Amino acid sequence: MDIISPRIASLTPSLTLQVTNRAKAMKASGEEVYGLAGGEPEMDTPAHIKQAAIDALNDGQTKYTPSAGLLSLREAISEKLSKDNKLSYDPTQIIVSVGAKHACYNALLATISEGDEVIIPSPYWVSYPEMVRMCGGTPVFVETTADTEWKMTVEQFEEAMTPRTKLVIINTPSNPTGAVYSEEELRAIGELAASEDILILADEIYEHLIYGDNKHVSIASLSQEIYDLTITINGFSKGYSMTGWRLGYAAAPKHIAKAIQTIQDHTTSNTCTFAQYGAIAALKGSQAFISDMRDEYDMRRQYVLERLNSIPNVSVVEPKGAFYFLVDTSKLGLTSMNLCDKLLERYKVATIPGIAFGNDKSLRISYCTTLDILKEGLDRFEQFCRAH
Ligand code: PMP
Repeated sequence: MDIISPRIASLTPSLTLQVTNRAKAMKASGEEVYGLAGGEPEMDTPAHIKQAAIDALNDGQTKYTPSAGLLSLREAISEKLSKDNKLSYDPTQIIVSVGAKHACYNALLATISEGDEVIIPSPYWVSYPEMVRMCGGTPVFVETTADTEWKMTVEQFEEAMTPRTKLVIINTPSNPTGAVYSEEELRAIGELAASEDILILADEIYEHLIYGDNKHVSIASLSQEIYDLTITINGFSKGYSMTGWRLGYAAAPKHIAKAIQTIQDHTTSNTCTFAQYGAIAALKGSQAFISDMRDEYDMRRQYVLERLNSIPNVSVVEPKGAFYFLVDTSKLGLTSMNLCDKLLERYKVATIPGIAFGNDKSLRISYCTTLDILKEGLDRFEQFCRAH
């Protein structure tokens, strides 16, 4: 008898967590490690958000809330979606979860059955395929290239469709490529999905980290037909530097929201009560933190771009959002795991192997760290590339 269910036993552990944990262990044992692997803003959560959670605790907000989250929080999210994203969701269509990761998983669990196919543009966020598999679905990868700035074209989407296609995942801005889909690109994908009754999981967790003239567009805002098939995912982790608070949400058509709520009723119930008060303060308070953080990351992004462009044997596409570079390392002739191991062991630079995102000829560098660490890490990366 299998102790571990075959569905779970066949999953791949999260490589991104594995590599970051190894780098943390090296640091803890006293080694100097230049961390370019992180997936979270290094700034602290703004003080007014922390204060709201502290006040909530002191006021005795230590009990259960509705499992979908406080009504006042869902009202604040509903206002935010209307104002920022041109999306009309009433609070009953919003479920607050334990991070956007949990919101994605709930959404897939609510919609995917055995044998359903889910189209995932690759390179992809590490957890999508495993979540799909946990739900009994089959991930179908669409290989994107640097030529289309790592974006799935509508033609590729059409080619990947079969009668079993149930859902497509669109992550804009993207982890790991920093790609940002334009309104036109989203409209073409959304209209095709709508014409075939394919659901859309729109993961918009990096919406606030977007640079230059690029604009974030929510695919569900583009037409009623697209809205009726879309589950919009967002959260507080990246925009407000609240990764440890575990606060994300799904907003969906009523019947899907109801299914997600039922899952949550029987699994986690609500996310942490006093953290939810922090989330209300995040949405209702000053938004200056977001633009300050964006300016800071944009400056680092430009620095890293300039540096990477001058390093031999590697190439990059300018990322338009998030805080990552997917670096094409095919000329180095190493598997991405081998490359990352060497960088970490010999040069003390932590990066994430592209294979974690379905691309073995790349590595991911994140710039959510200080300029000093970026500079030293890139100096060492450059030495490595010049030596190979
Ligand atoms: N989606 C993407 C694309 C992400 O990169 C992440 C975090 N790495 C998440 C969702 C999950 O975010 P959260 O911390 O809110 O669970």
